[in-house]
Formats: sequence, C-alpha cells, structure tokens
Amino acid sequence: MLRAIFVLLVVFCSLLVIAQTMPPQADKQLARDIYKEFVEIQSGFTTGSTTPVAEAAAARLRAAGFPDSDIFVGGAIPKKANLVVRYHGTGHRKPLLLLAHIDVVEARREDWSVDPFQLTEKDGFFYGRGTGDDKAQAAVWIANLIRYKREGFKPDRDIIVALTADEEGGGPYNGVDWLLKNHRELIDAELALNEGGWGESDGSRKISNDLQVSEKYVVNFRFEVRNKGGHSSIPVPDNAIYHLAGALEKLSHFGFPLKTNEVTAAYFQQMSKIETGPVTVDLAKAAGGSEEFMQRVAAAKPAWNATLRTTCVATLLEGGHAMNALPQLAAANVNCRVLPEDSVDYVHDELKKLVADDQVSIQVVGDPSKGPASPMRPDVLDAVTRITGKLWPGVPVVPTMVMGATDGKALRIAGTPTYGIQGFFMDRNDIRFHGRDERMSVESFFEGQTFLYELVKALSQSAIRADCR
Ligand SMILES: [Zn+2]
Repeated sequence: MLRAIFVLLVVFCSLLVIAQTMPPQADKQLARDIYKEFVEIQSGFTTGSTTPVAEAAAARLRAAGFPDSDIFVGGAIPKKANLVVRYHGTGHRKPLLLLAHIDVVEARREDWSVDPFQLTEKDGFFYGRGTGDDKAQAAVWIANLIRYKREGFKPDRDIIVALTADEEGGGPYNGVDWLLKNHRELIDAELALNEGGWGESDGSRKISNDLQVSEKYVVNFRFEVRNKGGHSSIPVPDNAIYHLAGALEKLSHFGFPLKTNEVTAAYFQQMSKIETGPVTVDLAKAAGGSEEFMQRVAAAKPAWNATLRTTCVATLLEGGHAMNALPQLAAANVNCRVLPEDSVDYVHDELKKLVADDQVSIQVVGDPSKGPASPMRPDVLDAVTRITGKLWPGVPVVPTMVMGATDGKALRIAGTPTYGIQGFFMDRNDIRFHGRDERMSVESFFEGQTFLYELVKALSQSAIRADCR
C-alpha cells in the first residue's frame, strides 16, 4: 500500500513538474500581451521615451486591483519616467526588489528584416527590439505580480517591481540612480533580482542557467609624458614617445596575479562539469586555486583570463605636434577591468611599479566607483538551483562575474546585493542583444515566466514547502 502511494506520488509529482513548466493559459496570454505592448512602445535610449511604458504597466496594475497608493510613476525628466509598484507581504522580512530596464538600444527599420517596434512571432521566435534586453523580464515581472495577487499569494516580505529608464546609455536620467537619490524608500530592499544572467543553450540543448553575482569595474589611467621637445634634426635619447612606448611595451607583457574568488571559483567548478576533454581537469584544479592550472586556463581562452585577473590594456594614443619636431607630449589611455576585490590604489601602484619611469606620469581618469560583489547568498543559490533542477533536470546553475556593467552595480554600491537571473534560454552563439533582428524563443519566454514566478515565490516564503522537491 505504502509503495503504491509512493508510486502514485512520484507520478503525480512528475506530472506536476510538466504542468509547472508552463504557466496557465490566461497568464501566458497576459504576459504576452504586456510584452507586445512594451516592445511596441519606442523607448530608444536617445530618441524614445520610457514614460509610456511605465504608464502602460501602471494601467495594467490598476486594472488588476493594485491601489494607486502602491504605484509610483516618475523620473528625472518627463520623458524618462520609471515605474515602482509594491505588493504587500506580511512584513516579516525586508522587501525583495525585482528590477528591469525599459529603455532599449536604438533600432532602425532599414537595418532589420522585420519592424523592430512590432512584436512579430515567426518560426518559434518573438522578434523586436527589447525582446531579449530587457522587456521580457519587465513584462514577466508585471504579469507575475498580477498573478500573485489574483491567486492571493501572501509573501513574507513586500515584493517591489521597478521598471527603470536609461540603463543602456547611462547618463543623467538613469532610473536606478534617480530612485536611489530621490526615492530610496520606494526601492529599499534586502536583495534584488535583475538582468545580467540568462540561460545558455547551444541552439538545441540547454547548457547552463547563469546567475550573475558580481561585475568587474572599470578604471581608466592616463599615461602621460611631457618633454621640452626641440628640432628633430638634433635628436636626443630623452624622447616623450620613446618613454611612452617603453611603458606600453612593459604593459603588453604584464599580467596581474591570477586568482579566484567565491564567485569565480564556483564558476570554474561548474564549467569543469560542462566542458569536455582535458580542459575539464584544468578547470577543476583552477577552481581550487592551483597557480599552474589557473595559468593553463587563462592561456586557453581570453574570457577565462579576464575572469581570473584584473586586466589593463592600452586603448587610445596621442602625441607629437609636428613632423619635424621632437614630441613635447605623448600619452595613452589604459583601460583596466578590475576584480571587485582589487582596489583602484592597488592597480595604480602596480602600474607605477611596472613602468618604473619617473618621466611617465600615471593618473586615474575621472572618479571611478567600485562595485562590490554580491555575496553568494545560500538562499538565492539554493532556490535557483532547486527550481532550475525542477524545470530543466540536469542543467547546472553557473555563478558568473561579468566584464560589462548593468544597473546592478548602482544597487550593490548602495548596499543591496543584486543577482542577475532570468531563466530565459538563449543560443550562446547567436546572442542578438543590441543587434539586428533581436529575438527570444517563444518557448524560452514562457519557461522564463514560470522560472521567475517560482523563484520569487521561493524567496518570499520563509518555509519552503517540502512536497514534490
Ligand atoms: Zn539590458
């Protein structure tokens, strides 16, 4: 009898898993409608406005019964509004913030094979600007919030959704910056979920579900040599261009120390299970911190090298003022991508030691802000791993540190740990963010909707239900 019940339970649970891969039809339709509405509003970073997107979301929420007092629409200028909505929980824990940006990179009709500002469903894909970056997540946050309300879900913390302006170009109207400075209380949270981590597939097979935990930060240095110059017919060894060239030659052979941190060690550990061939051993040993194996991994792929160390590279040159004069100025910009645990001063000191030429001045350009890593919170990692395993058995979760930057950086600086997670799977060899014919697979969109629905629920219920795990 017990055995029969067990078998029944297994059957029931596996049926449930299949059912849970896709949301109910009405919720799929709602998410698709909101997605279409968002994509078809031209919110291009320079020519468009995010305000109609924020207002469209507000109208959807009001229609679903959210009171005006829980909805905020506002921003730095009238064209760059943000939306913030609060779904009240028991207040047992500090809120969870769900973030997505609603501006998009510009797109011109003549560059695309379809209209970038129409949501076109074709051959199993949704086409349109923002279908991947980042209107899918924005639409899903709103649709899922409406679903929680309809289902009467009572979270143990407030769930806040913020749809924000101007992530793409940064600049003075960035919504996260503006909210932090002007309405901090609206988005104050214990942790946040954002873009920056998605599922990787090879077109047919799902490879990994990426969880972005931290970002490198950018520091530019100006290498500059000044010299009294003179006539080029009487050269002397003390030449500004030669001093600069010597410094850059040293830089070209230099590498910062190889190291792993909590996030990158976990990344290499997971990669050792995903890759095939002899490199898997190198990856596992590099994850354990072996100098020899970190070197092998760094040599195998530029992206792995950049994951294992701070990097600095010359990107711009200027110098000289006449063909027949000894140069009075030679300068270069050196662009560094710094690991979260390395300081600006440390990088500056290492570069000065390396160059070791008092004719070459090395100065930090601007006022770089360091973005701390989010801690690898076990609750986040556990929930992501559990739900990934339930929806896509055998697909590993890979924690990542990205080289680029998202709005997550501003939140991390403000003290809110932020995790890039979407569960939307993309072909890793055909990522079209910012490019022509941007698209998202129809199946991935709805699977991501389910994934995020489950994940937010798991992170806003103190007691995780033990059945069917
Ligand atoms: Zn984006």
